[in-house]
Amino acid sequence: MNYHIVLTRQCNLDCVYCHGGEEHGPRAEVGYSLDDLAAFLDRDHDTQLMFYGGEPTLRVPLMEQIMDRFPQARFMLQTNALLLNRIPEEYVKRFHSILVSIDGPRQTTDTYRSRGVYDRVVDNVGWLREVHYSGDVVARMAVSEQSDVYRDVRHLLDMENPKFDHVHWQLNVVWDAEGNWTDFDGWVRESYNPGIARLVNDWVRVMEDGTVEGIVPFLPVVHTLLTGKPSRLRCGSGIDTFVIHVDGSVGVCPISPDWPFSIVGDIWTTEPRLLADVMSVDEPCPSCTDFPVCGGRCLFANKERLWGEQGFKKICGTVKHMIGCLRVVLPRIRELLESEVISVEDFDYPQYNNGCEIIP
Ligand code: SF4
Ligand code: SF4
Repeated sequence: MNYHIVLTRQCNLDCVYCHGGEEHGPRAEVGYSLDDLAAFLDRDHDTQLMFYGGEPTLRVPLMEQIMDRFPQARFMLQTNALLLNRIPEEYVKRFHSILVSIDGPRQTTDTYRSRGVYDRVVDNVGWLREVHYSGDVVARMAVSEQSDVYRDVRHLLDMENPKFDHVHWQLNVVWDAEGNWTDFDGWVRESYNPGIARLVNDWVRVMEDGTVEGIVPFLPVVHTLLTGKPSRLRCGSGIDTFVIHVDGSVGVCPISPDWPFSIVGDIWTTEPRLLADVMSVDEPCPSCTDFPVCGGRCLFANKERLWGEQGFKKICGTVKHMIGCLRVVLPRIRELLESEVISVEDFDYPQYNNGCEIIP
C-alpha cells in the first residue's frame, strides 16, 4: 500500500492557488508516536511512504526518524524544494522519486509562488545532481491562468542544468473557480488546448529520433491506448493509496484532511488490508466513454464538485481534448514502435505511484 505521510501542515510558502492547505500550532504537527505508526505499518506488506505536507522539509529530523524506523519501505518526496539541501545526502539518495514544485520559467513560478523561488528551486535541484542523486526528479507544475502550458512545460523539459527527468502538471481546478480564474473558458480555448496540441506534436517529432520525452500526463495515457489495458483512478486514492494525517487519521486523499468523506480510518483501529478499494469515483465517470483511459481524474473533485456540474464538465473537456490529441498521433507512434525506434516500455510510467496524479 502507498501512504502519503503528512509530516506537518505548516508550509514556508503561500502560493496563490493553495487555499487553506496550511495550518499552524499543535494541530499542524504529527500527534502520534512512531511506535503507533509502526504498529499500523507492520501489518502491511510492500509499504511505500510518500512524504507530504504542508512542506515536509520543515521536519527533516522526523523524516530521518521515519526512514530509519522503516528501512524496508520505498520512499517518495513531494517538496517545494526551498530547503531540499537540508536533507542529509545519505537520506536524500534513498528517495525513489522527488517531486519538486516549479511552475515553469522564473516569471511564471515566481508570480504564483513568490519572488526568488525559481532560483532557489533550480539551485537545489542542481544540488541533487551534484550529490549524484540517481532517482527520478519530477518537475511538478500547477497550471493556472498566467500559465502558457506549451511554453512552461517546454521550458522545464528543455532545461539542461539542472535536468528534470519528468515534467508533470495539474490544473488549478481543485478549489473554487471564484478568485482563481477570470476567464477559464477563454484560457482553455485560446491557450491551454492549443498548447496541449502543440506539446503532443512536438513530443512525437522528438520520438522520431528515438527519444520519448518525460511528459508525465502523456506517457501512461499512451501506454493505455497502446496496450488496451484499462486504467483505474490513476492517483490511486481510495484504491491502493492513502494518507496518514498528522492526527493519525487515515484518508483517501492528502489534500482533504478536513473533508469528512475522505477520512476512512485511523492508524490505531484500522486494518491496512481492509483499506484496499474502499472508495471509487461516482458517475459520470464510470459511464464516460473515456473512463478506461482517464480513470476518473480526481476522487476529491468527483466527490465534492466544487466547480458544480457545469464546471466538472468543462474540466473533463480538457481531459477529453488531451486524450483526443494523443489518439490522433497514435498511428505514428505505432509505426515508430514497429520500426523499433522506440519501445512500448518507454511509455510505462511511473514504475511505482510516485504522487503524480497523471491526468491534469
Ligand atoms: S473525462 Fe471526466 S467524466 Fe470522463 S472519466 Fe475522466 S473525469 Fe470522469
Ligand atoms: S488527483 Fe484528486 S483524489 Fe487524487 S490525490 Fe490528487 S487531489 Fe486527491
